[in-house]
Amino acid sequence: MIFYSTENKNNTASLNEAVINGLADDKGLYMPEKIKKLPASFFENISNMSFQEMAFEVARNFFGEDIPEADLKEIVFDTLSFDTPLVKVTENIHSLELFHGPTLAFKDVGGRFMARILGYLLREEKENVNVLVATSGDTGSAVANGFYQVDGIKVFVLYPKGKVSNLQEKQFTTLGNNITALEIDGTFDDCQALVKEAFMDQDLKSRHKLTSANSINVARFLPQAFYYFNAWAQLSDEEKAKEVVVSVPSGNLGNITAGIIAQQMGLPIHRFIAANNENDVVYEYIQSGKYTPRKSVETIANAMDVGAPSNFARVLDLYQHDHGQICQILDGARYSDQQIRDIIKKVANTHQYICDPHGATGFASLESSLSKDQVGIFLETAHPAKFHETMEQILGEIEIPEKLKAFLDKEKKSISLSNQYQEFKELIDQQAY
Ligand SMILES: *Cc1c(COP(=O)(O)O)cnc(C)c1O
Repeated sequence: MIFYSTENKNNTASLNEAVINGLADDKGLYMPEKIKKLPASFFENISNMSFQEMAFEVARNFFGEDIPEADLKEIVFDTLSFDTPLVKVTENIHSLELFHGPTLAFKDVGGRFMARILGYLLREEKENVNVLVATSGDTGSAVANGFYQVDGIKVFVLYPKGKVSNLQEKQFTTLGNNITALEIDGTFDDCQALVKEAFMDQDLKSRHKLTSANSINVARFLPQAFYYFNAWAQLSDEEKAKEVVVSVPSGNLGNITAGIIAQQMGLPIHRFIAANNENDVVYEYIQSGKYTPRKSVETIANAMDVGAPSNFARVLDLYQHDHGQICQILDGARYSDQQIRDIIKKVANTHQYICDPHGATGFASLESSLSKDQVGIFLETAHPAKFHETMEQILGEIEIPEKLKAFLDKEKKSISLSNQYQEFKELIDQQAY
């Protein structure tokens, strides 16, 4: 498969180049050259297939030309070691629970898939590589756990000291093995600046092969299409005959863009809703046609605190930059922190279902816009206990699953560094492949 840059269709890359470079050299995002439709027989059989089997068919469309069938199957089956169940919340609204993976958030799917694809490509080239990732919390845990014990890859996670929650910190500082956590005396921006400087440092790069595991990477972005098929497969025949509306709690728009790609592969989704918190640039674009990226503001749904969503370029590309066309498939919604708190309380009391602060925006956008004869699915993007401090302020004590507790009991191991590049560079020189 050829991948092209959203900045210039003639700037193309192989799968290998797209995965290892992440971003195109013109700063565009890579897009697959073709989005092939799946055959009618696939949709007729879908409810009899396992999640892994249907995901393999989806993966073949994008990766089947470059990766032999047996290897791709192993990558997909190994990635999806957990299910994404569809849980009924109201008469016509379902929650697609994406939090049954190792770090209890949907980013596990992309993180695990990318780690395995990269591992495969490097084995073919007999090379080792170092992944540098700056995190403000959740990305670090999904990437670290996704790459944990993958041969030929070392991961360095940079995070700002004292600025990630205890639980998040434990999810990437307790693994050891090929994962090194670097606690930077500075801000998230400092962490990101260190990573960027390393990528521009030709001297360092002459000694070590470096790559990023950014969420815009095609190997993290495309596998997110898998669970939209799994959601639809779990609807009843009666529901499948109705208009299906999918609401996605959105930040960088990677998740929803993968859903749109699933629809272009033939999945019968009628409309999508991009649910925002107070960072509402997408909502504003849908209302007005004007896109005004800006600095993000902090909210209680903090994984959606994005002021300049990177995957917006992909949405524009899929619809030839036509606002009218985009509005035919995409709606927007926005919620303040107070509204999110009220929704969580109301859903817990009325429907005995606990939404996390992100999923709550998805639920609310369906409840206020679905007609009686439509079916709604919202993506429950993380387990509520990941945000237990916020959740406990709203609902009182909530249960913490064993999987999270297991991280809390382990010992933190990290290396403390200042925010000075020279110190970081010396460490990479000592410890990287
Ligand atoms: C990353 C994240 C989001 C936002 O997803 P995008 O693909 O960036 O739009 C929403 N909810 C949670 C819990 C997340 O971790």
